[in-house]
Amino acid sequence: MRIGIDLGGTKIEGVVLGPGGQELARRRLKTPRGDYQDTVDCVAEIVRELEAEVAVPCTVGVAMPGALSPATGLIKNANSTWLNGQPLDKDLSLVLDREVRLANDANCFALSEAVDGAGAGHRVVFGVIVGTGCGGGIVIDGQVLTGGHAIAGEWGHNPLPWPDKEEIKAAPKCYCRKRGCIEAWISGPAIAADHKRETGKTMSTENIAEAAAKGDKKARATIGRLTDRMARSLATVINVIDPDVIVLGGGVSNITALYDLLPAVLPEYVFSEHVKVNVVPNVHGDSSGVRGAAWLWPGETP
Ligand SMILES: [Zn+2]
Repeated sequence: MRIGIDLGGTKIEGVVLGPGGQELARRRLKTPRGDYQDTVDCVAEIVRELEAEVAVPCTVGVAMPGALSPATGLIKNANSTWLNGQPLDKDLSLVLDREVRLANDANCFALSEAVDGAGAGHRVVFGVIVGTGCGGGIVIDGQVLTGGHAIAGEWGHNPLPWPDKEEIKAAPKCYCRKRGCIEAWISGPAIAADHKRETGKTMSTENIAEAAAKGDKKARATIGRLTDRMARSLATVINVIDPDVIVLGGGVSNITALYDLLPAVLPEYVFSEHVKVNVVPNVHGDSSGVRGAAWLWPGETP
């Protein structure tokens, strides 16, 4: 059996998955923010409790923001900043007395959906999480593609493709210190900022999507711009890895109109005469982190 841990900034969640992917037990603890050693101990505590509940030894995988740097073996890019610069996999392996596998949470999302979610049965799965940020992961034949810098799938920090004059002028600043990144155009906060720029009105992305669904013209225009920018951004990924399916996750994936609009716009940008890409909502929702982490030890798949 497999244990999957989702190490988030506010909570640490763990599950045990049975051989067919069924959830057998679940635990949750508050993340000891700012304290590395306490975070390691907290993960170990959840693993021991889960193992006690199912009464068999389990493999352990951990999903986390950021990644293990292949160059240094230390955590980098985690917004839970107290993890950065630490050999988290080694410390967890030591305290739990077994090899512990670690992966970026967007990669775990993609893996979870590829194994037994919306991407099941497809060879090449591109999983994207668009919420407060914009991340992504690539799974090929059930294996996460990590890459030499552990950044494979990070499409959010490529520039918005084919920008028009207005977009070049408005190019919003990104936290990565560049301007006009995809994330700075299509993340949840970026959609709200775009709506404000165009209409002068402050609205949450959720409310914009609701208003658009009810026929509000300005909100519909905002969702239209979002769709076009998302289509351009996905097209450049499709032109490189040509995924069989694109699974959307994160808050923005709840905008249901995208699943009707994107397939109609994508052919304008993809380098192919005939374009039929599946863009689908995720199946596992908030459980994608724990489930994907558990599947870092594949063995028998459902
Ligand atoms: Zn950026």
